[in-house]
Amino acid sequence: MVFETSRERALIELFGALEGRYGPNYECKYYPCHFEGQDCSLCFCPFYPCFIYDLGYIKKTTKGYVWNCKECNWIHEKDVVEEVLSELSSYSRQQLVEEGWLFFNRIVQKLYYGRELGKFIGNAYSLIGCMEGKECEEIEDIRFLAVRLENFEISDVEEMTRLQEFPEGVILIPLLDGDYLFGFKLENNEVKGIKCRLF
Ligand code: SF4
Repeated sequence: MVFETSRERALIELFGALEGRYGPNYECKYYPCHFEGQDCSLCFCPFYPCFIYDLGYIKKTTKGYVWNCKECNWIHEKDVVEEVLSELSSYSRQQLVEEGWLFFNRIVQKLYYGRELGKFIGNAYSLIGCMEGKECEEIEDIRFLAVRLENFEISDVEEMTRLQEFPEGVILIPLLDGDYLFGFKLENNEVKGIKCRLF
């Protein structure tokens, strides 16, 4: 079978899993690509690209930016797969096909963090709040990334040094540099730069 896009493949796998085809795939030549006993149902993750740095990170390649999930074991844990399927089974297939990135991202935040940490800042949806709870310090510089997506694929990434008005559809995410995430916080209408240890 030839898949048009990774998104299409993710949805096909999701629908298969919703119909009960899930568990480890011992026949796959890459098994186990993460850990022994892993659940392979959502091999093409329905939340991709989630932009949750606790699970993956954005990487610059010769072909542009990609969200790297090589180390993400979360979506391969049996309990997580069951939770994801239970959550997504309350929506019609049609809705799951039609919904955009934000719908899926709010769900992954809810499942992973227990609540939505992202929020709108003007037209842009900011995931900088996912730095919450980390070991952070205030810094003078403001650094973060403004990302655009087209059909769940990263089409543009811009490094920003100030908060401004963004066009609709822009996603603001922390910038990873070494072991630190860089972003900002809003305090009394003032924007302050922050730097947080990733783990
Ligand atoms: S990091 Fe994990 S949860 Fe996020 S998109 Fe990748 S596989 Fe999915």
